Amino acid sequence: MSVDTAAAVAERFRELYGAGPEGVWAAPGRVNLIGEHTDYNDGFVMPFALPHTAVAAVSPRADGVLRLHSADIEGDAGGVVEFRVDELAPESDRNWTAYPSGVVWALREAGHPVTGADIHLASTVPAGAGLSSSAALEVVVALALNDLYALGLKGWQLARLCQRAENVYVGAPVGIMDQTASACCEAGHALFLDTRDLSQRQIPFDLAAEGMRLLVVDTQVKHSHSEGEYGKRRAGCEKGAALLGVDALRDVPYDELDAALDRLGDDEEVRRLVRHVVTEDQRVERVVTLLESGRTRAIGPVLTEGHASLRDDFRISCPELDLVVDTALANGALGARMTGGGFGGSAIVLAEAADVEAITKTVEEAFATAGFTTPRVFEAVSAAGARRLS
Ligand code: ADP
Ligand code: MG
Repeated sequence: MSVDTAAAVAERFRELYGAGPEGVWAAPGRVNLIGEHTDYNDGFVMPFALPHTAVAAVSPRADGVLRLHSADIEGDAGGVVEFRVDELAPESDRNWTAYPSGVVWALREAGHPVTGADIHLASTVPAGAGLSSSAALEVVVALALNDLYALGLKGWQLARLCQRAENVYVGAPVGIMDQTASACCEAGHALFLDTRDLSQRQIPFDLAAEGMRLLVVDTQVKHSHSEGEYGKRRAGCEKGAALLGVDALRDVPYDELDAALDRLGDDEEVRRLVRHVVTEDQRVERVVTLLESGRTRAIGPVLTEGHASLRDDFRISCPELDLVVDTALANGALGARMTGGGFGGSAIVLAEAADVEAITKTVEEAFATAGFTTPRVFEAVSAAGARRLS
């Protein structure tokens, strides 16, 4: 995100609110390389930040008023929406404003003296594509308020507060990955995150230097049953943990998976969910080992295994995502898998740089032949986490 963008966002803020902002901040969307549906099982994830960011121009206010505007939302009366910070209440708002308001609410609920703000947002993270536009929005607001009110909170603490905003204020039962990725990722790295204690390690991840690329293929579909299905998977994982007598599925060691599955008896659905989560945690650890030992190409098959597990065991893929993966692999991709919540959204494809054009073309052709919406394909480069721009 360039300084020009910061200046443009600041200028729009001035038009809306009559004076320039105290500062401008950015927070990115993310792609999860591996570690899907492990974050609410206390497991491992490995996201990296995208160059796409939510940018916020912000000034603090002392009078208890919160004013919000998004360049990306059509609104009445110029679209500025006004709240009183002491009247913010969980699940009272079903609009986009719940994300930034929720952050203000979570900060105040945690005892931080946030007395209002004027906020103008503009984002290049596509919404609803599984790339975490919501976390980018939350984290950019949290970081801005952290700086403006000198709260001294660290990235992981801001991520926790943003997750609380989304869980309690927005009412969406998301894990901790998206917010931590947006707050803590570093350019040229993927973030190996243990979602139990939020311990993290930056893993070098510079594909271009090794002649490879990672494509994101946004299928542009979102199958409508996705939310209910997410809830069912979470509940099934909790049931599995309870039946196995562990706090979370993270506590089932990979070596003991077969014995654990035996103990689950004939509850086929829970067995499948448990198998996905336990093998997926192990896949994250394998990818970390491979990347740290310079065997980057060898992560391809691990990504593809992850897709098979999400499709067959977790059962959250869909025809569009499977078509991306199958077509990419048939045309020389090193690995491919769906990423994000499932039932639509995006897939990632790891490929040699020389194969990217042909893969993109054949995926687009396959979508046309199948009668699916044309997918949006772009290259994902590991970019910086949340930061102040000006
Ligand atoms: P994802 O995080 O995968 O993109 P979510 O459903 O979690 O999908 O979040 C998408 C929601 O976030 C949108 O429906 C909207 O309410 C909010 N949002 C995302 N980007 C913007 C934006 N630029 N301006 C206003 N609201 C946004
Ligand atoms: Mg989201």
